[in-house]
Amino acid sequence: MILVFGKTGQVAKELQRRTKNAIFLGREDADLSDPQSCADQVTKHAPSCVINAAAYTAVDRAENEPDLAQKVNAEAPAHMAQAAQRLGIPFVHVSTDYVFDGAGNVPFQPNDPVAPLGVYGRTKLAGEMGVRDAHATPVILRTSWVFSAHGSNFVKSMLRHGAEKSEMKIVWDQIGGPTPAADIADALLEIASQRNASGTYHFSGKSDVSWADFAREIFSLADLDTRVVDIPTTDYPTPAQRPLNSRLDCSSLESAFGIARPEWRSGLQDVLKELGASA
Ligand code: NDP
Repeated sequence: MILVFGKTGQVAKELQRRTKNAIFLGREDADLSDPQSCADQVTKHAPSCVINAAAYTAVDRAENEPDLAQKVNAEAPAHMAQAAQRLGIPFVHVSTDYVFDGAGNVPFQPNDPVAPLGVYGRTKLAGEMGVRDAHATPVILRTSWVFSAHGSNFVKSMLRHGAEKSEMKIVWDQIGGPTPAADIADALLEIASQRNASGTYHFSGKSDVSWADFAREIFSLADLDTRVVDIPTTDYPTPAQRPLNSRLDCSSLESAFGIARPEWRSGLQDVLKELGASA
């Protein structure tokens, strides 16, 4: 039995759809702002594997709540990992492209130098380091630009705004791989099924695209005639700075686990269908 932290999140919901052999812990079962309670849950359930799909993901809000983000994204995963290590079971943790500074235009390799630009990225990086310190063989899966039919994400906000606006200004100079939560869930379950797995890997949808072109594809597939105007990031200031280059080199995941980059267009079609928004 797999113990999953996260119940209401995008990835956690897709995990729930795919496996009955798991217990999903929500905030009411384990609040990640209380890291020891997370370790206690691992010890109590004594599962065969732990997946952490929960995180403080409000990138801009994190700038004003660094202590809470640190507890949830760094201390809690380290405590979970330590409890998993004590039980001698695998620990699989989800992380982010925001551990990088986004410089250049070449896809980041898992071992490239990290240099997060904001609180969210710094706390997620601290989580990776805490997990590696606490567990001998953790798997850390960094992903990017997650979307699904649940929760809040770029696809859902484009559908909402696109229904009301004839034109939207979207940044063209941030490039990355939109990643369907459904494919992340498949990847996590495959990784969890391989007992000797360990290491840091990248997983994102292909092909890399700008937010502006991703928005164009969303509007086109949803049959919305909203026009997208390309703007630079400098014209769209946000409390937290975003990496311009979010390209992730995912080849080591494919060679280690046979998990290839998914086509985000096909995941997008599925999500639009589920939301009743396909053309
Ligand atoms: P969501 O934002 O959809 O969900 C976050 C989950 O974490 C929710 O279940 C939320 O519960 C839970 N959570 C947050 N704070 C606490 C807390 N204090 N105690 C207990 N649970 C808490 O996340 P995603 O599914 O999108 O992300 C999954 C992983 O992927 C995360 O590690 C994230 O960092 C990473 N990632 C996400 C990206 C994205 O674009 N979303 C991009 C790159 C990486 P509740 O509903 O109760 O708040």
